[in-house]
Amino acid sequence: MYPKITVDMKKLKDNILRINHLCHDSGVNTMLVTKLISGYLPIVQALDGMGFEYLADSRIENLKKLQSLTTPKLLLRIPMISQADQVVRWAHASLNSEIATLRALDRSARNQNRIHGVILMVDLGDLREGYFEEEQLWHAVQEVRWMKNLDLLGIGTNLSCFGAIRPTVENLSRLAEIGRKLQNQGVDRPIISGGSTNAIYLVEQAKLPTGINNLRMGEGFFLGTEPSFAGTISGTHPNVFTLRAEIVEIKDKPSLPIGEVGFAAFRTKPVFEDRGIRTRAIVAVGKQDIEPTALTPKDPSIEILGASSDHMILDITQRTSKYEVGDIVDFDMGYAAILKAFTGNFVAKELIPSNEK
Ligand SMILES: *Cc1c(COP(=O)(O)O)cnc(C)c1O
Repeated sequence: MYPKITVDMKKLKDNILRINHLCHDSGVNTMLVTKLISGYLPIVQALDGMGFEYLADSRIENLKKLQSLTTPKLLLRIPMISQADQVVRWAHASLNSEIATLRALDRSARNQNRIHGVILMVDLGDLREGYFEEEQLWHAVQEVRWMKNLDLLGIGTNLSCFGAIRPTVENLSRLAEIGRKLQNQGVDRPIISGGSTNAIYLVEQAKLPTGINNLRMGEGFFLGTEPSFAGTISGTHPNVFTLRAEIVEIKDKPSLPIGEVGFAAFRTKPVFEDRGIRTRAIVAVGKQDIEPTALTPKDPSIEILGASSDHMILDITQRTSKYEVGDIVDFDMGYAAILKAFTGNFVAKELIPSNEK
């Protein structure tokens, strides 16, 4: 069935072993962030037990899919008050930054006779979520410690997300320092969560400030890449995920569209270059399934011209192998393409098992 994503479980497990080893050697625990694969149970199940402190996702619906797994779950996106009951039911802990929400979580936890773990977020300058004023953070710390059904687990930060601010020795030292104060106030071995895959370069360079003892990572494990320097993580494999799509049309056509110019799909005004008559192939996949700009054909002689909701147009004029209608074309996938494919229902998934038990 096409379109289909194949997942190379051997490469994926290698990546996890490599990164977890690197982190554990530096005294850093990891959370497996599953939002990229929308909490897809067959994959997460295969990875559970590889040494993650938490399974983490930004959506409660994804954590719910993982309920059969015993590893604790954490909600990454700041909870909605309207979802407090579900947050407490499906997540053992969450990242937080608002007292009103904490009160709602405490109330839900009391009603469900549970204890909910809380990590308070500190904004170190990226200007997405978290306490910007330290005084307000300490106020929240006091409040949480008063709430009977909440357990203050620690603090965390988020960088390189909105403001593209890198985690550095300087800003993460500030987080570590706040963590030490928290410990002095009697919070037992707090989690000090220094960010996402964006901080892995500091671990690789043995520069992560002492005290940072947790990272929440998806991209690094699944793609082997890191966003702070748009680099790769040494010893990891790229291309765990491959998109396979079927050719439904091949024709020679001019490179300039003919007729009166209006708008294309998604109200875009594409610009075309006259390259004469070209051989084009259409594959049955589109923007409803993937992000075309985050795909790279494995055959370097193929060029992606663009896509509408359901059709992706390829230029195969320079092809070095033969293509016919019904043939399958393979693509390497970037983050945005994988995210869309797992979020929707139209792309089949096939796990290629790793042979080691
Ligand atoms: C997505 C997310 C992460 C993980 O980011 P990666 O770049 O995939 O490692 C960590 N923390 C929060 C709050 C997130 O939303």
